[in-house]
Amino acid sequence: MNKQLALERTKALTNCANDYHQWHPTFMLGEKLCTVCGVRAYCPLCLSRPPTTARLIPCALHRRERRAGV
Ligand SMILES: [Zn+2]
Ligand SMILES: [Zn+2]
Repeated sequence: MNKQLALERTKALTNCANDYHQWHPTFMLGEKLCTVCGVRAYCPLCLSRPPTTARLIPCALHRRERRAGV
């Protein structure tokens, strides 16, 4: 890993620590994976029973609904 990449990764991990993950949708409905730190998040509205230890983040679709509702 060269210095530039190491710096980029450090920055990305700092973002993760501040809860700015780089979410990437997975093949599973409502599941997102952070490509930097590997943490998974689930949309509580897509999944009726998301894993209890998981982060709950509404997907793009449900986020919009939620904003309109609140
Ligand atoms: Zn992350
Ligand atoms: Zn959803």
